[in-house]
Amino acid sequence: MAQTFDPVRALASARHEFGEHGGVNLSVERSTTFTVLAADLMPEIFAGRYGPERGGCYLYARHFNPTVYALGRQLAAMEATGMAYGAASGMAAIACALLQLVEPGGGIVSSDTVYGGTHALLKEFLPQRVGARTTFVDIADLAVVEEALTAGADVLYTETVANPTLNVADIGALSRLAHAHDARLVVDNTFTPLVMTPAILGADVVVHSLTKFVSGASDVIAGAVCGSEEFIMSMMDLHTGSLMLLGPTMDPRVAFDLSLRLPHLPARMIEHGARALTLATRLRDAHVSVIYPGLEEHPQHDLFTAQMNEGFGFGGILAIDAGTVDRAHALMERLQNTHSFGYMAVSLGYFETLMSCSGSTTSSELSEEEKARAGVSPGLVRMSIGLTGSLDDRWRQLEESLRHCGMI
Ligand SMILES: *Cc1c(COP(=O)(O)O)cnc(C)c1O
Repeated sequence: MAQTFDPVRALASARHEFGEHGGVNLSVERSTTFTVLAADLMPEIFAGRYGPERGGCYLYARHFNPTVYALGRQLAAMEATGMAYGAASGMAAIACALLQLVEPGGGIVSSDTVYGGTHALLKEFLPQRVGARTTFVDIADLAVVEEALTAGADVLYTETVANPTLNVADIGALSRLAHAHDARLVVDNTFTPLVMTPAILGADVVVHSLTKFVSGASDVIAGAVCGSEEFIMSMMDLHTGSLMLLGPTMDPRVAFDLSLRLPHLPARMIEHGARALTLATRLRDAHVSVIYPGLEEHPQHDLFTAQMNEGFGFGGILAIDAGTVDRAHALMERLQNTHSFGYMAVSLGYFETLMSCSGSTTSSELSEEEKARAGVSPGLVRMSIGLTGSLDDRWRQLEESLRHCGMI
């Protein structure tokens, strides 16, 4: 049984922002500073008593900006959180959220299979710079998670669907464990916008790289933090807020671009998911080693089904295990250079298919031992399935390339 939350209806319920002159699209607010009509309002704004969240005034664009704020309202509606705000990148969103939550010398328990940049942040940067203790765990082993939390932690961190092994996290169970040990559950939902809504399942904070599916065009770097109003306001606090003081501000032009893409994100996610499921099914039937949570053989297919929102499928990412690095490279080269099936590039969520050999690229920050433990085998090719071309043509290209490489 899937979840009953309807993110499309939620997204449509966000207040529509018209342009300054009645345009159907919102305006891009390009001012860095804002005027007030009465001088005595300025101290009120500085004291946090008369900001835009209270119907008051804007202050300065590293604090709230109307265009970024409008995007934040859309994202908060989509993620079912009280508030959301944009950041300059996914890494900025993740780093600022963690810096806001982790006490000096505090603890973080994290899934051992996370985005490479996040892994480096947790393993090297935060321990070295703020003395945080990070414990990496197999997020599927709830007994191990609980044991790690018992040692004391401010944050339990996971991705909904792990990059690149597509292991699914049990958000409900993890939130109960985190809360029992007075930790906040932070979930990276970059792989599954609309498909899963972690806050509905119990997450306290949801972070995104908007660079991926939400953008859909591989043209902007952007991120967001979604959480309670209290938490987002704490990140924007003029004296103690990580987003305000470290300053990875989202550009209002980027917020404008992304705001116009959210209305067709549902249509795109449905198409990404439908195509990925068709290709994964045909790969399985051709006896290719394929990982996709939409396949019944996937060890967490039932968990995914229980957590997903109805109607968006199982996401747009699949992974093919080509066995060896050489064969993985040959497969990707054939697919790109002979067929233009997709492109060899990191990142995901693009309208074209993107392919990378995870072990030597996006997960290369992990040691060989960590990769083995996380199930990132050397020949694993991650594919973010695109939307262009006919699906049958795409399958024929894939089939020919697999045959060419001796995989079928
Ligand atoms: C890309 C990515 C990030 C980092 O996002 P940027 O926008 O590149 O900073 C974080 N988490 C996941 C799962 C990602 O795929």
